Amino acid sequence: MSFAGRVAIVGAGVGGLALGGFLSRLGVPFAVYEQARQFTRLGAGIQMSPNAVKVLRALGLERRIREFAFAPRSWSNRVWNSGDNLFDFTYGDEAEAKYGAPYLLMHRGDLHDALHSTVPAGSIAFNKTLTRAKRRRL
Ligand SMILES: Cc1cc2nc3c(=O)[nH]c(=O)nc-3n(C[C@H](O)[C@H](O)[C@H](O)COP(=O)(O)OP(=O)(O)OC[C@H]3O[C@@H](n4cnc5c(N)ncnc54)[C@H](O)[C@@H]3O)c2cc1C
Repeated sequence: MSFAGRVAIVGAGVGGLALGGFLSRLGVPFAVYEQARQFTRLGAGIQMSPNAVKVLRALGLERRIREFAFAPRSWSNRVWNSGDNLFDFTYGDEAEAKYGAPYLLMHRGDLHDALHSTVPAGSIAFNKTLTRAKRRRL
């Protein structure tokens, strides 16, 4: 793909690739500019709340994400030195039915890989750092 797309996305992270995936679905030409020379498996665990999973669903990634994500049954918070219960959130089927999507935990690298699959090959220019932006009156 030529890098003369109408939309320039700076940063091929979680946000940039998600935007690229949607622009691609809409047929809007775009190019992503990433400062890194290549992708590396960065980060650790990341949680995707039901509203975020709905975004991934709209990108056609839900089935793929469910294959590697962990779906906890609940989230319990306790006081560190007494063990007293602070609060419990119930997840699992009950929460999925209530919110219309699951609450999922995954490695950021897996999420990033999945998002990368939504943009056409060659649409990311690596080793490109935005150093200055000019404000233009519309
Ligand atoms: C410790 C931690 C835990 C988190 N946990 C969660 C969580 O559980 N759930 C959740 O939803 N969110 C979580 N977040 C937030 C989430 O990571 C961010 O909201 C999300 O990654 C933001 O997406 P982004 O695309 O803006 O940034 P990133 O995913 O960080 O990507 C930014 C990209 O832009 C590139 N870049 C930066 N500057 C330039 C430049 N000048 N020119 C070119 N390229 C550039 C970078 O190299 C990078 O690839 C967490 C964040 C942190 C720090």
